[in-house]
Order: sequence, then structure tokens, then C-alpha cells
Amino acid sequence: ATPTSIMVGTGRAAEMGVLFRKGDALQQLTGVGVVAVDKTGTVTEGRPELTDMVLAGGFGRAEVLALVAAVEAQSEHPIAEAIVRAAEAEGAARHTVDGFESITGYGVRAQVAGRDVLIGADRLMAREGLDPGPLTDAETDLANRGRTALFAAIDGRVAAVIAVSDPVKPSSAAAIRALHDLGLKVAMITGDKRETAEAIARETGIDHVIAGVLPDGKVAALDELRAGGKAVAFVGDGINDAPALAHADVGIAIGTGTDVAIESADVVLMSGDLRGVVNAFEVSTRTMRNIR
Ligand code: ADP
Ligand code: MG
Repeated sequence: ATPTSIMVGTGRAAEMGVLFRKGDALQQLTGVGVVAVDKTGTVTEGRPELTDMVLAGGFGRAEVLALVAAVEAQSEHPIAEAIVRAAEAEGAARHTVDGFESITGYGVRAQVAGRDVLIGADRLMAREGLDPGPLTDAETDLANRGRTALFAAIDGRVAAVIAVSDPVKPSSAAAIRALHDLGLKVAMITGDKRETAEAIARETGIDHVIAGVLPDGKVAALDELRAGGKAVAFVGDGINDAPALAHADVGIAIGTGTDVAIESADVVLMSGDLRGVVNAFEVSTRTMRNIR
């Protein structure tokens, strides 16, 4: 690759809203076989809404929603914002909170109005030795429909399944088809459980899912994908995507994402969605072809 052709390619990419922070990346993209994408905020909008609440006997919706929202008001996760918005919309009672604890990749916990409130993934309940009983069926059913289903436990009893739905970006499916046309495989890495992730994968044409990944497990997931021999690109937007963006052969950050993600990336997409990834590969192929 001559410096001039790299400069021309980088310039052409910039006009399309694809910023190459390193000239090398233009060349490295030609060796990529798998595009790994983060789910929340990359494939999906990253703005979930509360859609379902299934209660265990003896618990009321207003009561559970108020307790859970009080805990989530302390969290910055998009799931938390969805629950807090729903509680506000329903005029839920406001409580003060003590001893808030965020258990990364699992959920959150706090004491609310003298009660112990826990909310998070099935693995959080397992970790605490809590059995959701018949609510497990509701959770599985919601996950199979692409929703993120959480359990809420109050004073050591599982009280509800709460589901949030994060819509797929309208451009995701077409962008993934275009990546396939370029001969690339697309894998999704997510902290969500397998059922939820597979429903999103079916909806968008994603080839492969690595689910239930803890935030510090995204790097290992990339190594697993790289085991095939081809280079791996990673596309993400969040703070906890930064290590994977740095570790991938080519790290691609969604421009609407967090500053840490952008600083860790080789390529930054101004478009805020996966169409920019397609543009990046197209410019790379054209630039490298012209050289030879
Ligand atoms: P992702 O980026 O895929 O959302 P996270 O590691 O942030 O991955 O979260 C993984 C899982 O942990 C979520 O799917 C959810 O089940 C649970 N979780 C994380 N934060 C919260 C929260 N504030 N409230 C409830 N559950 C949470
Ligand atoms: Mg994300």
C-alpha cells in the first residue's frame, strides 16, 4: 500500500462518515473474516422499554415496580433507565435507598424501605441460591421472543419477572446482508442470555452468537472467533467494549458511543449504525485493489 493510496482511501472513507484513526486499519480490514458485533447499542437501539411484568403470588405490580425502580435509579445501565421511566409513567411511589450494590454482568441490589431488593439475570438468582419456581417458564418464553427478562427478588423471595425490549435498529438487517455479500461472517457478543440473543440473531441474519458473556469476557470471545485463523473486527459502543475494541484486529466504534470506546478504536463510524461498517469494508477493498 502506497502512502498516497492510503491517504486517498482514508479521505474517501471520511467523506462517507468513516474515520480511520490509523492508516493500517484500511489494510487490515482486507484480512478480516469475521465481524463481531456488540448487541446493545450496536445491533439494537440501546434504548429498551419495559414491556412485561409477571408477578408471583402475593406480590402487586405497583409495589414491586416501586421497589425495583428505587434500586435501578442508582444504576446507569440502559435496563435501569427503562424500569425507572416505566415507574415514573405509572406514578409509582418513591422510596429512599441504602447500600446500593452493582454486581457487574449480574444485576443490582439495595435495601429499600427496610426490604432487601435484588434485580437481575437468572444467574444472579442462582448465585444467591434463589429458586424462581414457575416464573422460570415466563422468563424463558420472554427471552425466546428477544426480550431481556430479569428476576426481581424481595426479602429472599422471587417476586416477579420483568422484561425489557430493545428494538433492533432499522438498518441492522440490511447491513448484515451486505456484510455477507462481501464474504464476511457476523457474530454477536452479548451479556444477555442465549435465548434472547438467538432471537435477535434470527431477526437480523447474524450467523453466530456468543451469549452470557461477562464484561471482561469479550476479549476471550474474540480469541475464540479468531481461532478459525482469519482476523476479527469488533464493533461496539459502550464503556465495557473498550478492551475488545483494543484487542480486535480492527476495532470499530459507533460514533454515538462512549468516549472510551471511541478512543480505543481504530475506526470510528459517524453514522451510528452498522451501515458504516459496510462502507469501511468497501473503501478498504477498493483502496487495496487499486494498489496491485
Ligand atoms: P450487556 O452489555 O449485554 O447489557 P451487561 O454485562 O451490561 O451486558 O449485562 C448483562 C446482564 O446483567 C443483563 O442482560 C442483565 O440481565 C443483567 N444486568 C446488568 N445490569 C443490570 C441492571 N441495572 N438491572 C438489572 N439487570 C442488570
Ligand atoms: Mg453496547
